[in-house]
Amino acid sequence: MKTIGVLTSGGDAPGMNAAIRAVVRTGCENGMKVFGINRGYNGLMENDMYEMNLRSVSDIINRGGTILYSARSERFKTEEGMQAAIRVCRERGIDGLVVIGGDGSFRGARDLSLHGVPCVAIPGTIDNDIGCCDKTIGYDTAMNTVVEMVDRIRDTTESHDRCAVVEVMGRGAGYLVLNAGIACGATSILLPEIPFDFERDVIERMKRTQRSNKVHFVVMVSEAIGGVAEMAKRIQKETGVESRATVLGHVQRGGRPTAADRILASNMGFHAVQLLMQGIGNRVVAVQQEKILDFDIYEALKMTKTIDLGLYDMAMQISI
Ligand code: ADP
Repeated sequence: MKTIGVLTSGGDAPGMNAAIRAVVRTGCENGMKVFGINRGYNGLMENDMYEMNLRSVSDIINRGGTILYSARSERFKTEEGMQAAIRVCRERGIDGLVVIGGDGSFRGARDLSLHGVPCVAIPGTIDNDIGCCDKTIGYDTAMNTVVEMVDRIRDTTESHDRCAVVEVMGRGAGYLVLNAGIACGATSILLPEIPFDFERDVIERMKRTQRSNKVHFVVMVSEAIGGVAEMAKRIQKETGVESRATVLGHVQRGGRPTAADRILASNMGFHAVQLLMQGIGNRVVAVQQEKILDFDIYEALKMTKTIDLGLYDMAMQISI
């Protein structure tokens, strides 16, 4: 392949810039022309792109967000949108694409590959909800952000003997809330994968810890469950502990990527271009047990991973 494109699509995640940097530098160093495509599949269909060089990606490894911007596109899901994207690739001489995003973006990359434009996808999402991959780009940073924010909330719950009920992102997946909950020492963690009984798993646990003289509490709740304001009211009514709800929101999506995310993104970006250099497309780059691998996109989309119930049990035993 002589010319490749790179785009970021779907929800942004810290570390996407480090992945773009690795893609551009690997491509340029191997004699390829690399186009940076703005705003995901929208930029591809609308021919909104520019040629990047080694210096286009200077000073971005440390920055959150994505210098290529991200977007969602309904048009790209239509046949007309797909044809427009293919036309632009032909005009620009783009032989292959690197798509950085979540599983929705992977579906787009699979469709494009099937239409003759080989794509390699890189998992960038704070939700860590990609079946074939132990850790996605942005997850570690988001987890550290949640921990930092909840530590701050915890300071004030301590000062006032309160309960903080905190909503954490993750879409339909509980990885972020579970692991951040362990790191924050949350009294209760509610996540979509594990059925819960509010009375037993929150109220009774709080009452039990009250009997051992605990006076301030943190309850962490997945956004897939939501309802933190009502939960705070119920906790206050049933336990007598003054309670406050916090929705962390988009603070979790931004910020400087951690070292772990920068390294993961660099490895994945490098690997993606190595695949395209060999003419291989329709792959997802992944990491399993610290090893960088790749899978057929269709197979990857069918793969699932499950929450470690042992981890949840451990958290419940030591956060009492
Ligand atoms: P994420 O990549 O973070 O999961 P989305 O699910 O919103 O985010 O997907 C990002 C974009 O990928 C969508 O706006 C759309 O353009 C494209 N996409 C999603 N699903 C499909 C699909 N089934 N076929 C083709 N393109 C898709």
